[in-house]
Amino acid sequence: MKSRKTKQQDIILQVIKNDKSHPTIYEIYQKVSEINPKIGQATIYRNINKLVENGEVIRISSSDNMYHYDGECNPHEHFICQKCHRIIDLYENDYQEKVEKIEKKYSIKIEQTTMIYKGICKDCRKML
Ligand SMILES: [Zn+2]
Ligand SMILES: [Zn+2]
Repeated sequence: MKSRKTKQQDIILQVIKNDKSHPTIYEIYQKVSEINPKIGQATIYRNINKLVENGEVIRISSSDNMYHYDGECNPHEHFICQKCHRIIDLYENDYQEKVEKIEKKYSIKIEQTTMIYKGICKDCRKML
């Protein structure tokens, strides 16, 4: 069920949406407190959980054992580098097609995906 967004939630969502680097809770906290120092870490945590529940934010559990958050609503997949833990957005044209194919095949409705590919990124490959 979608609940009405509070002002605090709006600020937090904006911060996540404007940060394309898939920030952690701590990075979000730092940016939010620049805008409104009164918003504490517990409030941020609670609100992010709501945003994730509502499907407005994606939670990615990365290989650095931390949760990263993504406000990008366009369907996309992720690549996580196992060396530098960078998260890269993947936009493939056949992604939507693939989702629809799976929905048909299994008679399900997919509301959210967190497809993650793991490997070594371009920069880290150069250093091998
Ligand atoms: Zn890397
Ligand atoms: Zn992403």
